[in-house]
Amino acid sequence: MFKKILIANRGEIALRIQRACREMGIQSVVVYSEADREAKYVKLADEAVCIGPPPSAQSYLNMPAIISAAEVTDAEAIHPGYGFLSENADFAERVERSGFVFIGPTPDAIRTMGDKVAAKQAMLKSGVPCVPGSEGALPDDPKEIIKIARSIGYPVIIKAAGGGGGRGMRVVHTEAPLINAVQTTRAEAGAAFGNPAVYMEKFLENPRHIEIQVLADTHRNAVWLGERDCSMQRRHQKIIEEAPAPGIPRRTIERIGDRCAAACKKIGYRGAGTFEFLFEDGEFYFIEMNTRVQVEHPVTEMVTGIDIVQMQIRVAAGEKLPFTQRSLQMRGHAIECRVNAEDPYKFTPSPGRITVWHPPGGPGVRVDSHAYTNYFVPPNYDSMIGKIIVHGDTREQALARMRTALSETVVEGILTNIPLHRELMADARFVEGGTSIHYLEGWMAQRQR
Ligand code: ADP
Repeated sequence: MFKKILIANRGEIALRIQRACREMGIQSVVVYSEADREAKYVKLADEAVCIGPPPSAQSYLNMPAIISAAEVTDAEAIHPGYGFLSENADFAERVERSGFVFIGPTPDAIRTMGDKVAAKQAMLKSGVPCVPGSEGALPDDPKEIIKIARSIGYPVIIKAAGGGGGRGMRVVHTEAPLINAVQTTRAEAGAAFGNPAVYMEKFLENPRHIEIQVLADTHRNAVWLGERDCSMQRRHQKIIEEAPAPGIPRRTIERIGDRCAAACKKIGYRGAGTFEFLFEDGEFYFIEMNTRVQVEHPVTEMVTGIDIVQMQIRVAAGEKLPFTQRSLQMRGHAIECRVNAEDPYKFTPSPGRITVWHPPGGPGVRVDSHAYTNYFVPPNYDSMIGKIIVHGDTREQALARMRTALSETVVEGILTNIPLHRELMADARFVEGGTSIHYLEGWMAQRQR
């Protein structure tokens, strides 16, 4: 096992990884920008290295600075967390070429999954069902494009092969605007992602977002750890996640989970990963794979009792997964609310000093956050300052625990989206379960009226 790991990230996930290291008796090195000097994990770290000024491009995305920090501290492995460089194949390659272990999949796997056209083709080959669409990138010939759209049937969605974070997509309802939409998306994709390739899919009107968590080791073992329902989204950003997904028959989930695990074996995947699907009318359609730990991983940890971050570290050190698919047992229901420093209804960011931070507690309540009273939320990064996660024997109990937890939470000095979460936990349709990815935006529009 490693003696020392460098954490190439910030915020709650830096603290989360640090906790995993500590429990395993591994020393952790954190890197931080000048804006994060006051962060909790920096204060708690065995070693901390400042890697640059606040802008991410000069700190958390600065590959040479991060690799030198690993060199000067004698770290053996680098954990990239999520966001930043976590899905950057060039970074993974540079880490390995510099003699460190990258805690994640191979650079090749990251590269394939980062190109959505390549990822879809790999999935189709491995027997994972995808959204019906163009075979590969769209050709240049407008007549061909029109033909493809007709065979898929409107509405269709044009997506950038290199897209991410909900950007680089355009829905087209009729033939008239099609060619224009393809051209605009191509131009945008070229500018934003350095790859102008676009592809076409059937636009699903009212799907749910269901994802499968996988773990694979380097001894040809791959398991899936159940599913998560992440349909409560605004502008493609998840804000509430839960496990299991309400109202989907276990047989249906098992069938898709087994396919995901089989695909991992087929492509030689290693580490933690997530297969994201749209789910509509009882069918799963693959949209993309995330080759890293996800923000919402705790709900899976709560129902499986497995520490996903520790498993990432074990697998990276060459250990075998200590369990099999058959030995896994899922228990109860877990829900996560992402706590963002923002106006709860206008969503404008609200950075600044937290004057009171009073997190909830009690049975089945977990808070993953680097915040504390007197912590200054820097304006330079994502607005998420933590996550409240609850576990109960049933979904009803989990909901009740989340309501209690939210009622206990006090954050002063900045605005947070906790009032929004309180309302949603009482919303009849959400409480019933199984809302689509459009539900939250519809609810917001209603509320504003
Ligand atoms: P990104 O990498 O930018 O997150 P995804 O491919 O995961 O892109 O898609 C993001 C979101 O866009 C999905 O969660 C869903 O809301 C919507 N979306 C993507 N593809 C489709 C589709 N074929 N039909 C309907 N909605 C889609």
